[in-house]
Amino acid sequence: MPTSTVNRGIFAVHAKRLPRTRMKALLKEGSRVSVQIMPRPELTDARSVIVRVTMAGLCRTDLYAAEGKIKVCDPLVLGHEFSGVVEELGSEVDSLRAGQRVTVNPILPCLKCKYCLSNNTSVCQNTTFLGVDRCGCFAEFICVPASAILPLPDGISDLAAAYTEPVAASLAVLKANLAPSDKGLIYGNNRFAHLVKQILNVKSLTNISVYDPASDGALEEGSFDYVIETIMTSESLSSMARAIRPGGKIILKSRQYEPVALKMTDLLKKEPVMHVCNYGSFEDALELLATGKIDVEALVDGIYELEDFQKVLSAAKQKESLKPFFAPGGSR
Ligand SMILES: [Zn+2]
Ligand SMILES: [Zn+2]
Repeated sequence: MPTSTVNRGIFAVHAKRLPRTRMKALLKEGSRVSVQIMPRPELTDARSVIVRVTMAGLCRTDLYAAEGKIKVCDPLVLGHEFSGVVEELGSEVDSLRAGQRVTVNPILPCLKCKYCLSNNTSVCQNTTFLGVDRCGCFAEFICVPASAILPLPDGISDLAAAYTEPVAASLAVLKANLAPSDKGLIYGNNRFAHLVKQILNVKSLTNISVYDPASDGALEEGSFDYVIETIMTSESLSSMARAIRPGGKIILKSRQYEPVALKMTDLLKKEPVMHVCNYGSFEDALELLATGKIDVEALVDGIYELEDFQKVLSAAKQKESLKPFFAPGGSR
């Protein structure tokens, strides 16, 4: 992992000098984002858990939230990709123990709708997302439902475990039923693209290349069985439509918050199949990371202090090749 010039004394950040009832957090209030000393979260109910956050990754969604590009609750602690240590358990939580290392699925199903009540929480339409709809993980502590927690297998690093959510999101491309003989293209040269490529390779899908629209030449028309999008604009959609063969697949992976114009004349003659992918299994993602089948070390920018957030956020906006991390709750 590359070292960073601002990567100093990260494990001193766990502010033991603060009273037990207070913590440090990256808070968005109105349009202002700042590091604040605020009350520690308390257990919201008997099935909730307080986790001390040891590693937390920054992603596009956090940038959109910080910039007010997506609707979020206010005030809000940002962040949703993390690992940590169980600090406190609700009285009805018997599946976990204090001190256990964990990561968390940040998509919280409502547990009330017909899908949730029939044990199909992955298609709940009323989910709450950590760091968007309720306070997230760029803080020393976070309160989450026990049902969202995944205990960590031995041997996985805090940093790799904090990559579980992006890996689960990347695994969603496998829902498009791709075959090893298919010729594939990943549109965009960024960390998502390289994560998706690793996942495809693990699944024996190796006939695939990564395309950088900024530096690579024009794509050969009609030459791919599928294209996986990581940069969603009207231009990239047209370009992808030209690149696939007739009847090919366009797999939409990014979480573009702005509407994108569809140029139907680019699409009609190809009759493409469009797959819009959300998430794959978090359990599978964690296993791929724990067994080393997916290696995210090369996709890590560095570990920063919360106080460096302005520098980190503006750098992340410019460049998406590597993921920056915060370590707000100190070491385990
Ligand atoms: Zn994310
Ligand atoms: Zn539901």
